Amino acid sequence: MENKIVKKDIIKKNTIRKNDEIEIVILEMGEKGQGIAYINDLKIFIDGGVVEDRLIVKIVKISNKYLVGKLLKVIEPSKYRIIEECKYSRVCGGCQYQSIDYKKQLDIKRDLVINALKKEIKIDEKKIMKTIGMDNPYKYRNKAQFPINKNGDDIVIGFYKKASHILVDIDDCILQNPRVKEIVQVFKKYILENNVSIYNSKTMIGVLRYVVIRSSFLTNEDMLIVVTSEDELVTKDILIKNLRSVKSVTSIIQNVNKDLGNKILGTINKTIYGKNTIMDSIGDIKYNISPLSFFQVNSFQTKILYDKVGQYANLTGEEIVFDLYSGIGSIALTIAKNAKKVYGVEIIKEAVDDARENARLNNIKNVEFIVGRAEEVVPNMFNRKSEITADLVIVDPPRKGCDRELLSTIVKMKAKKLIYVSCKPASLARDLKYLVDNGFVVEEVTPVDMFSWTSHVEVVLRLTRKNLLGEISE
Ligand code: SAH
Repeated sequence: MENKIVKKDIIKKNTIRKNDEIEIVILEMGEKGQGIAYINDLKIFIDGGVVEDRLIVKIVKISNKYLVGKLLKVIEPSKYRIIEECKYSRVCGGCQYQSIDYKKQLDIKRDLVINALKKEIKIDEKKIMKTIGMDNPYKYRNKAQFPINKNGDDIVIGFYKKASHILVDIDDCILQNPRVKEIVQVFKKYILENNVSIYNSKTMIGVLRYVVIRSSFLTNEDMLIVVTSEDELVTKDILIKNLRSVKSVTSIIQNVNKDLGNKILGTINKTIYGKNTIMDSIGDIKYNISPLSFFQVNSFQTKILYDKVGQYANLTGEEIVFDLYSGIGSIALTIAKNAKKVYGVEIIKEAVDDARENARLNNIKNVEFIVGRAEEVVPNMFNRKSEITADLVIVDPPRKGCDRELLSTIVKMKAKKLIYVSCKPASLARDLKYLVDNGFVVEEVTPVDMFSWTSHVEVVLRLTRKNLLGEISE
């Protein structure tokens, strides 16, 4: 498809001016959910553009490497464009793909993986499978987290507007568990009736900062985490009394976060009502989850993701496995029954406590969890006992990917097989370049849609070791 330039002289970048209005066709989607059109080989990013839309856009930013256009008019809508189901889709920055047909979202996510990987390594597209989607891509989230603001006499609890710090009051969300709506309503009423002070990030005065709700699809229970800037919450008893009217709330935690930054949770948790943890399950394994522990937000697709990990692992019962970035032990406990021994390594102590408790809860004995940074723990184990080896290493790092120190140890350990679970294709691609340069071969890549209606991509890969003599290239 060709881009038709309305303004005849806009062919070369240096003839384009800010505020020019041009006609373009969206040819692909970017990783942040914007549509991308091209003028010659220069990219124009357009928020709200859907692949194959023909649009009039106004140029609002010109840089050396790219342009930004503002969508003025859809001239010919793409066949993938749909009417948004969420009334907040134009204002809320949470979902980027609300106007794209769900099946197409899955193709786009596969394309994002292909494009990211191709920037760093040579890969045959046939190795990248179709994205595994959801049968019912709604109400799948088991965690909701909202900042709280004051707007005159009103209390605003919701999500930030796209690319801004303006909070939009959201009273319903198609991704959240429907119970969240009722809990937020009761919580808001408690704030208003008791005139509870709200934290202001500019003045740094006020108490309530965020509210986080964790919901279990196993028990249908909810954990409410109220984040405060101070140790004391004077109206705590009223909060408990009000929230107990919602039967599903079995746990209320006060989390104290005195940090000035925008990290949601602080390190101190006080259980002010009910249980310290919430229980959920993936397949047959039950997990107790503490407020600070990571748990995949889409419990349904996590089962599919872990099944794929199990399939790629193809264990016989004889293997030593490392599960790095192990969280509450969810992958380790899922695969333990087919392995000889699984070591989990995780940086958050509470998550490791949960992992050990979860091993007991599920009567799994061949797992051991270690608190620490994967890039320190694994090289230390290797240096102390250099014959240490793993038949399989699984890594599931946060968005920034793996530390080079860890990757080089995995190479030195001569692990025969590596499974990489990634939530960020760009850091994955960077890490793969190093692994491929050092003897690993990418065998298969499967994107799994964990974050329907958003542009976030989760992907699982199976790599094998090509030659066990591989020299390290730094
Ligand atoms: N595998 C788990 C968790 C994945 S999320 C699951 O599927 O649920 C990534 C995890 O890595 C988080 O629990 C985070 O606390 C942990 N983490 C972050 N940096 C780390 C590091 N340097 N070393 C070990 N764990 C780390």
